[in-house]
Amino acid sequence: MNRRSFLGWGLSTPAAALLAQTGPAREEPVEAMMPEDSPAIALNHLGFLPGARKTVIFRYAGEDGPADFQIRDIGGGAGAVRQTLPLTRDRTDVIDCLVGDFSEIHREGMYQISIAGELGTPFFIRRDVWRRTLPKAAGYYRYQRCGVEVPGVHPACHLDDARRRDNGRQVDVTGGWHDAGDLRKWMDATLLNAIGLLRVARNLGAQWDAGGGGLAALLDEVRWGNRYFLKMQDADGLVWADVAGGVNGDNSDNHWTDNRAGTVDDRYLNPAKSGRNQALFVTVQAMAAQAFQASDAAYAKQCLAAAQRCWSAAQREGNTGDLAWWVMAALEMRAAAGRDPYTAEAAQLGGRLLALHAFAFEGGQKEIRGFWRTSERDRNPYTDAVHSALPALALLELARALPEHPNAARWRDAVRLHLDEYVTPLAAHSAYAIVPFGVFLGSPTAETYRPLAGDLTYRYFMPVRKQFWWLGMTSHLECYALLLAEAALFFGRTEYRDLAYRQLEWVMGANPFGACLMTGEGMRNPYPHSRFVGLIPGGIMNGIAGNTKDAPILDMQNGFDWRTTEYWSPHNAYYLWAVSTLARAA
Ligand SMILES: [Zn+2]
Repeated sequence: MNRRSFLGWGLSTPAAALLAQTGPAREEPVEAMMPEDSPAIALNHLGFLPGARKTVIFRYAGEDGPADFQIRDIGGGAGAVRQTLPLTRDRTDVIDCLVGDFSEIHREGMYQISIAGELGTPFFIRRDVWRRTLPKAAGYYRYQRCGVEVPGVHPACHLDDARRRDNGRQVDVTGGWHDAGDLRKWMDATLLNAIGLLRVARNLGAQWDAGGGGLAALLDEVRWGNRYFLKMQDADGLVWADVAGGVNGDNSDNHWTDNRAGTVDDRYLNPAKSGRNQALFVTVQAMAAQAFQASDAAYAKQCLAAAQRCWSAAQREGNTGDLAWWVMAALEMRAAAGRDPYTAEAAQLGGRLLALHAFAFEGGQKEIRGFWRTSERDRNPYTDAVHSALPALALLELARALPEHPNAARWRDAVRLHLDEYVTPLAAHSAYAIVPFGVFLGSPTAETYRPLAGDLTYRYFMPVRKQFWWLGMTSHLECYALLLAEAALFFGRTEYRDLAYRQLEWVMGANPFGACLMTGEGMRNPYPHSRFVGLIPGGIMNGIAGNTKDAPILDMQNGFDWRTTEYWSPHNAYYLWAVSTLARAA
């Protein structure tokens, strides 16, 4: 991939616009994008909890290579840790590398590793190494507020949102959050912001930010976004799709405006009503009803009423991911509004999800099973760049909420099968231990699918010849980190917790580029595709994608490549949810 192609993508196609677009890719990367100066050491830049598994990877293709690595406590003074530990040849099949383990070092401090003359990024071993990033990740949303001045970021904006696409009528849908490295306000992506923030509140309570703004700060941000979500609910109870998404899937509404309604630069409201958005809206309102009950009962009641109106009007249909979100919505309604009829609805939806689980071995092999199918009509393995682990997570939440239900054992077993016969063996194919994007039957498009077993193949990254819309894997990996974190708690298995951290470690620097994908943490951050407000502390990028050969690509050359470097709401939402779940367990 050259710089020109990065630029071509960057200027025309910010991320979330193309969710629904399909068709042949316009332009494809041919070679893996691995800058000459990419470090050989791959290591999580944040660091490690004292008791965690600790891994360093050293890229090395030869047969011999260095036999050991050095680790020292930089700030420790006399008597500080300074050790030489062995490197062993990695036997997995994806990258040639040596692997070192320093799990035995528990003492808190700032450390640095050196291997064969290369110095790694300094990192901490300390008890709050992940948790201390939560305020930054949550603070990202404040920079994305729309309809108000954000001091130091932008003046009050889009006070003229918006006119309806269908009849041109003006509707007040000001407020909310800009979704990504642009100025558009998608419901599907930004509803996740509220879910991420409310999960932090639920997981960690007032101490989530160790003496910062506490619960009030979290709930204030939720309420800001929710003002917009509530305005987006139509009289029939259903919610609209977006404001400023672009009239033909284009970028025509992606601009600042004069803030005066009725002028030519007013942006459009898309009145379409997708099923997934209804499930996300019900989930948010039912969660808000619970979270605000103690501090503002009237507001909690308003949220619950909005949830009930949407629940009553919506069809609970769709693909596997949609059904998974409907299970989550039903469970939140049950918690917010009482048991009936939501307990029965949740169990019934869980039954439909269970029917989409592939228990039997397929594709002439006996190694991998337990994936989900795409939908009740499409039997292909389910993949999703954002909500990849949601089906298993929904069944896990169901089993936890309804432990006495006659089907609870089947829900639990399905989650275990997915983790033990799909996630774990797939993650074991590379030294990075990341969960591949998905498995496939054969080669659905003309590009590399890695052989797995029998007719089953897999890719670490999205196919690039299937559709125009493909991007980095940050949310997919964070979503699996979340599932693994919840499963570690539920089943009492530390292996799941270790694997959860490996997914997050990739995002935070343990990757072939040695790049940390959160602005303001770690080193070698790419410059983000954020062309209206620039850097946002705590913003997380789309991350590493793949080329036709399923080799990793990441724009480290300021190319404004949206596929790999654009900020996007779901990455911060799943990060907050996953890290606060892991912190709950600590
Ligand atoms: Zn705005």
